[in-house]
Amino acid sequence: MIAVDLGGSTVRAALIRGRIIRSATRELRGSSADGVFEEICAAIRAVRAPVHGIGIGAPGPLDQRTGTLLAPPNLPFRNFPLAARLRKEFHVPVRLENDANCFALGEALFRKGKGHRSVIGIILGTGVGGGIVLDGRLYAGRGNAGEFGHMPVSRQGRCGCGKRGCLELHASGRAVVRYARRRGLRAESAREVSLIAAGGNRKAHEAFAEMGRWLGLGLAQVVHALDPDIIVLGGGVSKSWPLFRKATLAAAREHCIVPLPPIVQGSERSSLLGAAENFRRFL
Ligand SMILES: [Zn+2]
Repeated sequence: MIAVDLGGSTVRAALIRGRIIRSATRELRGSSADGVFEEICAAIRAVRAPVHGIGIGAPGPLDQRTGTLLAPPNLPFRNFPLAARLRKEFHVPVRLENDANCFALGEALFRKGKGHRSVIGIILGTGVGGGIVLDGRLYAGRGNAGEFGHMPVSRQGRCGCGKRGCLELHASGRAVVRYARRRGLRAESAREVSLIAAGGNRKAHEAFAEMGRWLGLGLAQVVHALDPDIIVLGGGVSKSWPLFRKATLAAAREHCIVPLPPIVQGSERSSLLGAAENFRRFL
């Protein structure tokens, strides 16, 4: 089967047979729903494998039951029937799930969350997503539990979702870029800021620390609400974890009245493995 991980700026597709056999990644350049849909199809075809079924993880909010993307803040989809469109294109069963849920499931079953009863996955990418796995099963609430990215952590600024002060506004890859520019650095992406930081630039380090302080504030809320056994961080920005780990843990400790669980860096592959597992469970 084919697993797909759709993010705010890239889409990755992979052939899965118990593990990732091979994968293909495409940058998202399309500014329309149909344009991005074509890029998803291109990534699937680029894997060059027979397609028997597609498990896809995509940014929420979404409707798993109907396979519809509702209004993801960082993609041009509005009530887009992604599962139906992929079904029509490839003539195979398709299962859609929140990307952070796929990541959390993949970590809980196969990686850092293995052996833990409650696992929280947080995706730090263009936006911020979250997933909750309890006893090996996704907890989805009415469908959209774990939208930690849109927990308000301040009253300042307007998030892509239209609300004020969301965690995503303060602790995403976009936030890192904003904090870096505010300090006079020129950077287009969090990855660029991390490369500047690797060169020893103090301002780039400060930008990540600022993001980490907000993230810690958000994680304190997650711990107060769910007191999980482990929190695993994924998404592109999590690759820079050493740059914001200290600030994140300090802020989380500052705001938390219960002991912090381990907060660790996960693997990019978990989203794909989780999307595949989610597909398998619903066959
Ligand atoms: Zn928001």
